[in-house]
Amino acid sequence: MESRLLDILVCPLCKGRLEFDRPHAELICKADRLAFPVRDGIPVMLESEARDLDPAPAPPAAP
Ligand SMILES: [Zn+2]
Repeated sequence: MESRLLDILVCPLCKGRLEFDRPHAELICKADRLAFPVRDGIPVMLESEARDLDPAPAPPAAP
């Protein structure tokens, strides 16, 4: 998937930027903690198709 495509893709819920999880072929919205699937290179930007991410075990430590 082209990074250029990722630039124009936003979360359908919060309109925030998405992060591409290449190993899992998912687009991640960290704000909503949803992962949208990418099927055959085509992002499926449907809330009904997204899966819930596991809750973060702990907030990241400050650098
Ligand atoms: Zn979102």
